Amino acid sequence: MQLLDGKFLSETIKKEIAQQVQSIQQKGGKTPHLAAVLIGDNPASKAYVSSKVKSCAQVGFHSTLILKNTTISQNELLEIIDDLNQNDDIDGFIVQLPLPKHIDEQAVIMAIDPRKDVDGFHPMNVGRMAQGLPAFLPATPFGVLEMLKRYNVMTAGKQAVVVGRSNIVGTPLSILLSRKGWDCTVTLAHSRTQNLIEVCQTADILVAAIGIPRFIKAEMVKTGAVVIDVGINRIEDATAPKGTRLVGDVDFERVAPKCSFITPVPGGVGLMTVVSLLTNTLQAAKQRVLG
Ligand code: NAD
Repeated sequence: MQLLDGKFLSETIKKEIAQQVQSIQQKGGKTPHLAAVLIGDNPASKAYVSSKVKSCAQVGFHSTLILKNTTISQNELLEIIDDLNQNDDIDGFIVQLPLPKHIDEQAVIMAIDPRKDVDGFHPMNVGRMAQGLPAFLPATPFGVLEMLKRYNVMTAGKQAVVVGRSNIVGTPLSILLSRKGWDCTVTLAHSRTQNLIEVCQTADILVAAIGIPRFIKAEMVKTGAVVIDVGINRIEDATAPKGTRLVGDVDFERVAPKCSFITPVPGGVGLMTVVSLLTNTLQAAKQRVLG
């Protein structure tokens, strides 16, 4: 069993991005600039946004953090998005999800200029992705693909099972794995899937994006499978310093011995997600993605 080490890979990719930023600056080019909009004080969202901002500093990007409280109206948020769309200094921006209930998430995503949509959530980017055209790929699926590529995991002709059909992880990853270049035969499983255990047992590559701690058990995993654990779940643990700790959607201790490759949690896909956002922002700064 080999670990797909997100910590090592993300540090490697950050160094590569930092070198590219330096070379752009040496040629008199503009420093990439990412903005993030965070509404409210959800602890997980705050942690994600602060790690994104910190990572920008590590690679030499500029970053702007726009903090608003949950009383913001949808129109006020749309105005902020419009300003970011118009601001030539901002190359890309994200609006951290989830949003407060009174704000229509889809309306917010639709308002983002697709050329600055470095989260890859706008239907223009999703559609281009589905057709194999240049697009900003959603950060988590992009991070998973980068891990598979950099560890030379064979995907062509393999049976991939993705469990979870969210718009930000499961659905786009299932599309990407089926596309030319990755060439998997993909099954997208979800909460209504029948015989999930048997379906998972067919997987050469099994992706868990469910949001239920240790949902994928050893009996669901074929010997020699590649297991990608996207889940990030905080569970109580009296032995941990803070009384809680993070676990994935995979029962790591029992599943890992059966695998050829597996991602740990923490230290796996989560770190790759942040790096993919940086990669998208660099591309946006170079204005190469959308015509
Ligand atoms: P979501 O809550 O939007 O969707 C969960 C999916 O799991 C749904 O499609 C549902 O059909 C499926 N599901 C639920 N119960 C099931 C069951 N019993 N059997 C089969 N399928 C079932 O999830 P999401 O936003 O994709 O997040 C999934 C997990 O990934 C969460 O733990 C989240 O925190 C984590 N996440 C991690 C990253 C990262 O960077 N590593 C990014 C996004 C999400």
